Amino acid sequence: MSESYDVIVIGGGPAGYPAAIRAGQNGLKVACIDGWKNRDGGHAFGGTCLNAGCIPSKALLESSELVHRAREEFAAHGIRVGSVEVDLAQMQKRKAGIVKAMTQGIAGLFKAAKVTGLAGHGRLLPGRKVEYTAADGKRTVLEARHVVLAAGSTPTPLPPVPFDGTYVLDSWGALEIDAVPKRLAVIGAGVIGLELGSVWRRLGAEVTVLEALETLLPMADQQLAKEAARHFKKLGLEIRLGAKVTAATLAGGGVSLAYTDAGGAQSLSVDRVVVAIGRRPFTDGLLAEGTGVVVDERGFVRVDGHCRTDAEGVYAVGDCVRGPMLAHKGKEEGVMVADLIAGKYGEVNYRAVPAVLYTAPEIAWVGLTEEQVKAGGRAYKVGVFPFMASGRARAMEATAGFVKTVSAVDDDEILGVHIIGPMAGELIAEAVLAMEYSASTEDLQRTMHAHPTLAEALHEAALAADKRSIDFPNR
Ligand code: FAD
Ligand code: NAD
Repeated sequence: MSESYDVIVIGGGPAGYPAAIRAGQNGLKVACIDGWKNRDGGHAFGGTCLNAGCIPSKALLESSELVHRAREEFAAHGIRVGSVEVDLAQMQKRKAGIVKAMTQGIAGLFKAAKVTGLAGHGRLLPGRKVEYTAADGKRTVLEARHVVLAAGSTPTPLPPVPFDGTYVLDSWGALEIDAVPKRLAVIGAGVIGLELGSVWRRLGAEVTVLEALETLLPMADQQLAKEAARHFKKLGLEIRLGAKVTAATLAGGGVSLAYTDAGGAQSLSVDRVVVAIGRRPFTDGLLAEGTGVVVDERGFVRVDGHCRTDAEGVYAVGDCVRGPMLAHKGKEEGVMVADLIAGKYGEVNYRAVPAVLYTAPEIAWVGLTEEQVKAGGRAYKVGVFPFMASGRARAMEATAGFVKTVSAVDDDEILGVHIIGPMAGELIAEAVLAMEYSASTEDLQRTMHAHPTLAEALHEAALAADKRSIDFPNR
């Protein structure tokens, strides 16, 4: 006899495991099937984010940023540390410990929410049945009233530069490097390229980033992108725009890359290459024939605004559906779906999805860029406040960057907030909340901010939008 559940979630990443937990909190009988495989073949819940993405990358970003600050900033504080040495083995061990603690923590969360966690492969069959293949190969057919697909994504390969796990690495491989390469090439100046390029640059590698487009960070507000480019240059990240890689040759313990740019044919010899040109939805082996679930031409599971697929009772969330490939977007979708299944209210506000690049300075935004507002034709006003004018930023020796607000002239609504500077990823939360509540610029202006804090920069930027900044009045 097959076992039956109210909800079966396929995929235990940051979209799937929150869906399972919320379904459990809603009193539903729920199982979460996850097939993640670690390098040693073992299983851990948490998907890309916890095992090979957000968490390990942030651990290395933090460690490498400390190295950089010890070398570049401590002297200004009057701290003499002599020469700063990198113990990469310890850095990687710390990272592995964080990943282990976080992924193992999910078992405890599942227990508390009465979720049955199943390691192995899940495949949706017609009629809301799920074939579960356990790690030992044993197959069982489970039944569910509702199924949530949360199968995630995988790195997009670049055919002329195939991954080999030693010299040509994907983002996971780039997090596992055990000796700082002398010369590193990163293909793709996107979020991964800039974050992981920064890590290895700070640890001493000569890093060249080859980006196919002519514009750096085209999805960001361009005032922000220009400021970011200045800081990447200062760090020593060499970013070559308009570079199209055509071939890679392994030679002498390294890789020789051939590419073309505005200047014609070029070449670059490095010790390692990281390919980070985007990710694509991962749905291999997920759907049997006849389920009714539709996959679009780019491989994404087709869903409506509430993550319902074309098959009755089947939902899909996270990286395997449209929208930004971000852990927090997947989490909110998973939670929404679990609430909808339980007959409760559920909604995701796709207009207020924050984006954060954990570089130094950090970069974060929410809502529309100035370019997007301009293209939309609505009259707008901009407020900018530089961290140079923030007492807290000065005390932190972190005066690079600014906060920028873009608001409508007609009703004063905040349309977008763009931050480059210290703790931008934390500061953006206030802007997200403001946009969630459709706040006006005046709402932010009239909100008291503690002094001296970095958050005052958002307050002052909102004031600057009406030429009323107190601390930087010439804007
Ligand atoms: P995933 O995390 O990919 O999880 C899907 C899970 O489903 C996996 O465990 C997979 O093995 C399993 N699975 C797939 N198919 C099946 C099947 N048929 N049966 C059973 N199991 C299956 N996002 C951020 O928001 N912030 C960051 O700082 C950030 N940093 C990142 C850094 C890196 C290096 C990378 C690569 C990504 C980063 N991301 C970040 C993106 C983030 O990791 C993804 O958006 C997020 O993991 C997507 O969650 P998901 O649950 O949809 O998919
Ligand atoms: P991305 O889409 O951010 O960037 C890919 C970059 O590669 C783009 O600039 C693109 O123009 C470029 N590119 C594409 N093809 C190329 C080619 N042939 N040669 C050279 N450049 C090329 O993708 P990513 O950096 O791989 O990250 C994947 C996903 O993971 C992103 O969607 C991102 O949202 C997510 N992520 C998020 C974070 C974060 O939130 N901090 C961190 C890492 C990853």
